[in-house]
Amino acid sequence: MVVGAGPAGTALALLLARAGVAVELVESQRRHSALIRGDGLMPSGLAALNRMGLDFLLTRLPRQELRGWSFLLEGRVLFSVAEPIGGSARCSLIDTPSLLEGMLEEALACPNLILRRGRAVKELLLEPEDTLAESGGPGRLAGVVLDDGTRLPAVLVVGCDGRGSTIRRLTGLELEEDNPPLEVLWFELENEAAAHLQPWIAGRFATLIGDAGSYALFGTARGGVRLGWLQERGAAGSPIPWPERWARSAPPELAALLRSLPTSSLGPPLRLTVRSGLAPHWQRPGLLLLGDAAHPMSPLRAQGLNMALRDALVAAELLLPVLHGDGPQPTATGLIGSSYGDPGATGSGQASPDPATEEIPGRRKRLQQLDQTLVAIAEARLPEIRAVQALQRQELGRGELLRRQPWLRRLLAATASVSGPLLSRRWQAGQPTLRTGLPLPEGPA
Ligand SMILES: Cc1cc2nc3c(=O)[nH]c(=O)nc-3n(C[C@H](O)[C@H](O)[C@H](O)COP(=O)(O)OP(=O)(O)OC[C@H]3O[C@@H](n4cnc5c(N)ncnc54)[C@H](O)[C@@H]3O)c2cc1C
Repeated sequence: MVVGAGPAGTALALLLARAGVAVELVESQRRHSALIRGDGLMPSGLAALNRMGLDFLLTRLPRQELRGWSFLLEGRVLFSVAEPIGGSARCSLIDTPSLLEGMLEEALACPNLILRRGRAVKELLLEPEDTLAESGGPGRLAGVVLDDGTRLPAVLVVGCDGRGSTIRRLTGLELEEDNPPLEVLWFELENEAAAHLQPWIAGRFATLIGDAGSYALFGTARGGVRLGWLQERGAAGSPIPWPERWARSAPPELAALLRSLPTSSLGPPLRLTVRSGLAPHWQRPGLLLLGDAAHPMSPLRAQGLNMALRDALVAAELLLPVLHGDGPQPTATGLIGSSYGDPGATGSGQASPDPATEEIPGRRKRLQQLDQTLVAIAEARLPEIRAVQALQRQELGRGELLRRQPWLRRLLAATASVSGPLLSRRWQAGQPTLRTGLPLPEGPA
């Protein structure tokens, strides 16, 4: 049972279903475009898609390779770095809803996958105590209950339900939060407004920090422009129109373009609280958390989508030998009663757990093996997540220092010809892990 069809859940469901495991995927939203997600694909995410055999999907969706990164202080370029950096693949901007739809299409081609869209998981089922009487610890998870009351038994529940994870909350798994007191206002500029700014952006990801505030500006894979304005959480509004506020931190040529933006082109921004954190434990018997549910990622330097894909890859590679290895799969049936074949579901689910009863000792052994694998998955992923989140914190800290200290901004801007190359070298030193991640565990032969 995979809960949540974001990058982590969709990739995991596809990898398991493609290998013949019976999978149910539950997603509360009807459309992927209903949620704003990251669209920066790093070499780390690209490597995961390659190893999943899904890189062909990238040729079918809107994608734009990034040409470089530029950092501007007080309207002056501090430094720019061209892509690709350090010999790794280029970063690109992709249309994430199209990638998710492509993965779902592949997954639905597997007869053993059931997709339930527009249904949220509200509760969890626990295994009746008598079946694992001497197990000691907390009861084993045995499935989920949907918001329409449907009970779905499962051998394993994987919570891929994002930063506000219901599954994490219901299981009481702790989240160590490290939320900076910041929020991002996301502005989407399309058509005429985007065309107006594209010549200045020129395929770059630009970060601008000045007296008026701090923001990121970049083109989207579909030809639009996205602007993320960083501010203190709950900051008061300003009577100054947005384009004028942006212009005040911009170099003259961009400022002129911003001030002449067609006023009708600007819709209200989407306000998103910056959240980041890490669950020290991602599992309990019968349950695993992956992606933002296990480690909410701040949007800084485009990591969350990439880490979610890598979580799914590692989890699938470690789970498959247990779920689909020699001998029978552990079954959830006989515990709660089956709800398979529900008319609200897409896919036939023909390979759902066989109702045939398995001997209790054999079943218990296989469930223990499965639970040990969940621990191994978290252990395999934690070092990379910790390393990446530490680098994100470091970079956010530097940006915040510049945003809050006008004297430092002015000093660095005035000495950009000297400070720029030094800061560029320092910035680039932190990039290898943010670009490629740590080496992935060796995959199956
Ligand atoms: C504005 C913004 C910009 C970002 N930029 C980037 C970027 O450029 N690059 C990058 O790599 N990352 C970026 N990120 C982060 C990235 O989007 C996330 O880290 C990534 O989407 C996490 O994937 P996930 O599969 O774990 O969770 P999500 O993508 O959050 O998916 C969770 C899914 O679970 C579903 N769900 C939730 N609750 C339930 C329930 N109870 N029952 C059923 N379904 C449920 C949700 O509808 C959702 O579809 C950005 C994030 C934001 C918000």
